[in-house]
Amino acid sequence: MVKIIKCLFCGKPTTLHNINVQKKIRGKVITLSNAPVYYCQPCKETFQAKETQDVFRYIYDNNLDEKLILFNYDDISQKLN
Ligand SMILES: [Zn+2]
Repeated sequence: MVKIIKCLFCGKPTTLHNINVQKKIRGKVITLSNAPVYYCQPCKETFQAKETQDVFRYIYDNNLDEKLILFNYDDISQKLN
């Protein structure tokens, strides 16, 4: 379960959304679908949840980016627990 965090800039509570997140891994743009991201309405800023960062790290550590550039968050996060 992903916890709600406060905005890093203004300290107000953020809202949690599941969206597509992109990150460059070894020069390739990797898309993670349905990944948890925090959004601060007043600042219009988004923050990747720690869980999302963990999934990107898993992709990197296991060289999954060599075969695919599109992943589903839930598929990978299940392997982490
Ligand atoms: Zn904010």
